[in-house]
Amino acid sequence: MDPNTLTHSSLPDSLWASSACPAPPTRPLEGATRADVAIIGGGFTGLSAALHLAEKGLKVSVLEACEIGYGGSGRNVGLVNAGLWMNPDDIDAQLGKEYGDRLDRILGGSPELVFSLIERFDIPCEATRNGTLHLAHSKSGLKGLTDRARQLQARGAPVQLLDAATTAAMTGTERYHGAILDPRAGTIQPLGYVRGLASAAKSLGASIYTRSPVTRLAPARDGQGWSISTPDGSLQAEKVILATNAYGSGAYRELQQTFTPLHFFQFATAPLPDAVLERILPGKQGCWDTRQVMTSIRLDQAGRLILGSIGQLPDNGSRFLQGWAADRVKSLFPELYPQIKPRGETGFWHHGWVGTIAFSPDHLPHLHQLGPNLISCVGYSGRGIGPGTIMGKAMADYVTGSPAEDLPLPLTEPKQVVGRSIREQYYARGSDLYHAYQRVT
Ligand SMILES: Cc1cc2nc3c(=O)[nH]c(=O)nc-3n(C[C@H](O)[C@H](O)[C@H](O)COP(=O)(O)OP(=O)(O)OC[C@H]3O[C@@H](n4cnc5c(N)ncnc54)[C@H](O)[C@@H]3O)c2cc1C
Repeated sequence: MDPNTLTHSSLPDSLWASSACPAPPTRPLEGATRADVAIIGGGFTGLSAALHLAEKGLKVSVLEACEIGYGGSGRNVGLVNAGLWMNPDDIDAQLGKEYGDRLDRILGGSPELVFSLIERFDIPCEATRNGTLHLAHSKSGLKGLTDRARQLQARGAPVQLLDAATTAAMTGTERYHGAILDPRAGTIQPLGYVRGLASAAKSLGASIYTRSPVTRLAPARDGQGWSISTPDGSLQAEKVILATNAYGSGAYRELQQTFTPLHFFQFATAPLPDAVLERILPGKQGCWDTRQVMTSIRLDQAGRLILGSIGQLPDNGSRFLQGWAADRVKSLFPELYPQIKPRGETGFWHHGWVGTIAFSPDHLPHLHQLGPNLISCVGYSGRGIGPGTIMGKAMADYVTGSPAEDLPLPLTEPKQVVGRSIREQYYARGSDLYHAYQRVT
């Protein structure tokens, strides 16, 4: 799927689409209307901003091109992690100590914000706060995790480095050399969470318009903020938050040049037998490993095994990648595999879907001031549940008068990625080759 086209107006088939709570009723924008703040994009970032602005009593309108959660927010793995992929020392080197410390502190607390919103608004999204496991797939992976744990612990994070035996007991596989357990983190049904944010924002008075792609964003003729057009309506708003991330199109296309699109697919089985669930991830931690082409593994509430990796699925799914994913399950859980593998005609995988990640060159999200009263956050690089919820709130605070110095990141000008299409091909072909190599060896 090309995220730069808006021809897809409904959610793709996925496990999340089949098991999420319903979205609140919404309709397209029709006619002319006004708002204090317009938000473009109905994912974690936009809806967190909407919720926090509506809570302050502002008149907020969200414009979503397709459906709530159509972008990364409705397709991701559901790991609510603290902090970013990058090690804290590298973040400090990139941003300087002041912003490095601030980002570490704020994003370290992001699971707390996510789980407290879930509790406060009673969002039915399979929230499980048992921690996540970052798994070492090799000796060098363990060395990297040991260093990462040291850096996190030095900053007060309550992470634990686990040995191979403890990791095996917690995962049900002896394939890993150790792991970092982060008790701050957990898992959610991501589409349920983003729909719950929409319901909460609506209950506080926000207007949410779906099937309303923004086709034009320009300074208002009367000088009062911004004028926004959709196919059937228009909206004038004093301030605008652009929250389109990897799925941006129509409005402000230059932002799409600031990151490389990276695709990530997932497959899910049918619910596993109880005897298997007693052995595989008995604590229900969500996991990912240290491979460069990483694998994610988790269970959902019904006990389905969900496995993901970097790569693109063709529209009709991919037998090749389905085979690769089944092989990975077999190699992780050789003894349990016969009980996981369904009998008869039923395929191994009951759901398969893909999403696009906005991968920034420095792997950090970026806050951009795109014009007067026009702000955006983009480039979560695969960590957007906590960070998207935090950045939405931070942008809501900023547009209501908090100083720029209080934002988690400095406000910067968007910068085009050098060699974007070469990088995209490198990631796509690199992951194809990796999966192909694994199948033949
Ligand atoms: C497969 C996958 C796995 C991931 N796994 C994890 C994970 O386990 N943990 C984690 O923390 N993060 C994960 N991420 C990252 C996370 O999902 C994203 O960073 C996050 O969803 C970004 O949220 P957002 O609201 O900024 O953008 P999105 O959720 O992408 O929302 C942007 C919205 O903008 C809309 N839009 C675009 N253009 C327009 C327009 N012109 N007018 C109106 N609306 C428009 C789109 O339709 C879309 O709904 C993953 C991402 C993917 C794709």
